[in-house]
Amino acid sequence: MSILPVDQVDEERWHQKRRPVALDGRETLLRRLIEELVDNAPLKGDKYQRIMRRHVQGGLPWLSKSQVITAYEELCDLDVMEYSAEVITALQKKPTRSQAGVTVVTVLTKPYPCPGKCIFCPTDVRMPKSYLHDEPGAMRAERHAFDPYAQTAARIAALENIGHPADKIELLILGGTWSSYPRKYQEWFVKRCLDAMNGVDGETLAEAQTLNVRGQRRNVGLVVETRPDHVDEDELRWFRVLGVTKVQIGIQSLDDHILALNRRGETVQDVRAAVRLLRLAGFKIHVHWMPNLLGATPESDVTDFGRLWSDPALRPDELKIYPCMLLPNAELYEYWQRGEYKPYSDEEILDVLVACKTQVPRYVRINRIIRDIPTTNVVAGITKANLRQIAQQRMAQQGLSCRCIRCREIRRQTVRPAELRLRVDSYETDTTTEYFLSFERDDERIAGFLRLSHPHRDAEHPFSELQDHAMVREVHVYGPAVPIGEDSQGEAQHLGLGAQLVQKAKEMSHEAGYSRIAVISAIGTREYYARHRFEVDGLYMVGETGD
Ligand code: SF4
Ligand SMILES: [Zn+2]
Repeated sequence: MSILPVDQVDEERWHQKRRPVALDGRETLLRRLIEELVDNAPLKGDKYQRIMRRHVQGGLPWLSKSQVITAYEELCDLDVMEYSAEVITALQKKPTRSQAGVTVVTVLTKPYPCPGKCIFCPTDVRMPKSYLHDEPGAMRAERHAFDPYAQTAARIAALENIGHPADKIELLILGGTWSSYPRKYQEWFVKRCLDAMNGVDGETLAEAQTLNVRGQRRNVGLVVETRPDHVDEDELRWFRVLGVTKVQIGIQSLDDHILALNRRGETVQDVRAAVRLLRLAGFKIHVHWMPNLLGATPESDVTDFGRLWSDPALRPDELKIYPCMLLPNAELYEYWQRGEYKPYSDEEILDVLVACKTQVPRYVRINRIIRDIPTTNVVAGITKANLRQIAQQRMAQQGLSCRCIRCREIRRQTVRPAELRLRVDSYETDTTTEYFLSFERDDERIAGFLRLSHPHRDAEHPFSELQDHAMVREVHVYGPAVPIGEDSQGEAQHLGLGAQLVQKAKEMSHEAGYSRIAVISAIGTREYYARHRFEVDGLYMVGETGD
């Protein structure tokens, strides 16, 4: 097994003399500075100086570009920002092609009513339900009048302007409840995003997809968000027609009493049924969970969070923890005014976050903690924007750690082949045996992983074509990837990790008696799986386990 350093360029810089930046509570200011710099890249002429000057007036010390990069890396380590090589590229004078990886392009759907009546959910007439116009991302979408083509094309152009290849794109479609939009709109929306990636307009969605299979900028993941009570077999088949690979669903609570009090309009049983179907259909399952709802206490929240893992019908793959935020344009505000709702104090939220993070299984990724709403919108309750960071520090002081995937990802460190071990964890769900295969170092830093499902064989599969098939639900390898096409010549050896994981999944499935294995492939990963002897078969790609 030979594996290249996955992040060599960063590593070199890491060893250069670093002048640490004292963050001392200035995380939000720094984050805004970084976002503005990235939005305005390339930073030609005196653009950097002009932006920096404004932020110095706003309370930051003058920082060099390399100090901004250092500060950014610290913010990522503290869970305040998500690591993306794009930021490094935007700030460095000489962009390096090898720094590219999968680029996330976030697009918002047009404002549209949601069938939900959740009392905590803000209504902003300028935005799709649950979004605020001053949220990061929302502003960009509004600038483009929510046009999917314009949103996608603008992001690609911004990336390519700074020399950052956008050849592997995960498309994240946000906005209320995707399933409540008319299907015609959904189809048009996805097609227009693909048209922007392809650089030519397809006649139909199917044509745009075909063009994307070998396109310069490939769609390697497609994420939508919906409500559990919209998830049924027909909807999931439709998701596959669109090319969806990951579904975000709001769970919020696993207590029927609390769900009813907050008028979620669904029950825990709906949630369990949705997660079960999503898993059997091979989707990556990303859930939102919300402490501090009406009727909850810090103690009940910690118990509620435990249900996510103790209930075999749940056990999702990814998670956002969004403590309920009291916003003036949500119905909950009236409850608060009547004295019927009390937001937790920062201390109470911190206790909940620490207790939750310490009980997360190692196969889960916590993508965010605390929603990215400017705290100026919050009427009462959370006052600090950097609660994530304080929670991390508190855990470190108490000798606790979060073992979720995000906290263990190898980002800028060199990976040496001899250091990596293939580890296999397994856990049961109500309908499958799940395997989490990961390449890890002894310190549990993770270089790549694969999610494999073995559906229980005695049960009838709701998707008859998948009966008795093993299923690869996700393959993820960290570090910058070379452009599509080059890895076929064996140049990106770290991509060999993905190949080894897929091979191992096939072997394990063969030994367990599954002769066929399916993969939920995005349009732009079809060629990759074809090289691993998978063929398109209906809505999935399927291969033999014994080859
Ligand atoms: S389902 Fe989601 S978007 Fe709709 S009202 Fe409830 S929280 Fe808001
Ligand atoms: Zn974590």
